[in-house]
Amino acid sequence: MKAAIFKEIEKPLSIENVKEPEIEQGEILLKVLASGLCHGDLHIIFGDWKTDVDVKTPIILGHEIIGQVMNDGKNVKKGDNVLVYNAFGCNECKYCKRGYPQYCDKVKILGVHENGGFAEYVKVPSEDNLVKVSGNPIDLAPLADAGLTAYSSVKDIEEGSNVALLGTGAVSMIALQILKLKNTKTTVVGRNYFKLSKMLELGADKVIVVKNNYSEDLSSKIGREKFDYIIDYVGSNETLKDVLWMIDRMGELRIVGEFGGEFTVPEQLMVLRGLRIKGVLYGTKKDLEELVKIFNEKKIKTLAVPYKLDEINMAIDDLLNERIIGRAVIIP
Ligand SMILES: [Zn+2]
Ligand SMILES: [Zn+2]
Repeated sequence: MKAAIFKEIEKPLSIENVKEPEIEQGEILLKVLASGLCHGDLHIIFGDWKTDVDVKTPIILGHEIIGQVMNDGKNVKKGDNVLVYNAFGCNECKYCKRGYPQYCDKVKILGVHENGGFAEYVKVPSEDNLVKVSGNPIDLAPLADAGLTAYSSVKDIEEGSNVALLGTGAVSMIALQILKLKNTKTTVVGRNYFKLSKMLELGADKVIVVKNNYSEDLSSKIGREKFDYIIDYVGSNETLKDVLWMIDRMGELRIVGEFGGEFTVPEQLMVLRGLRIKGVLYGTKKDLEELVKIFNEKKIKTLAVPYKLDEINMAIDDLLNERIIGRAVIIP
């Protein structure tokens, strides 16, 4: 089968013919219909996560996967189209038992720890992680990661809250649409004019263009306004600096992006305003099922931008250079 192989840091992926995966008892073989390209893939390709995530090369990347089932399981049948809930835990630790296998010590992610979706076929360790779907696979693919992360980053935000979203990537774009279903007031902050105008189209109440520093540009435009929630989909030094000063009493900073920023926390501000800080990594399988329902009701768009598998290095370059408005989706 044809696959895009990650062999070496900072090198293009290599398009090669490799052996199809062989499945054992309990495993499911998927014919990949589409697989989204995530900033996480870039972090792996450029070696940003070397110390945190153990990626053994050569490996097929691609962790945002939709595929067609090739062999019957107990709950899925040959021919079903499925999204992969891509966190395979031990099923025994406290995180797995609570439904958060992404925090499991032994978590396996296809396209990170095992071969993923930038190929014609992918092997799935357990059918328990498959969610049946129908519809256009290209549009559905981003639900598996960008959509799920977006959903889990905003699902418990109260109706009518005043929310600022930092960053204009696919996760932020999907999160905005979910927030608008709850009548929140939304301000989107970013650097890219084209992406910000897309945010207005998707229902943002206000967009703010950052030229220099996120907190300075934001505070100069909002004056005394404060947010109930600020959700940082970037997570860099630039987005995090002084961000807590713009959060209202009992408000919350959520950090979703993984650009490796650091910031100082003014202790008294936290206490006197009763602020909270929370990290958001992926979501639960139940979240994914709820999200698919919202998508089927045509309440959100995933903004998929299709590329062929042969064009994957171009897609990587486009993502890196901010040319993608929405989510790049690779079709084998
Ligand atoms: Zn990802
Ligand atoms: Zn576990």
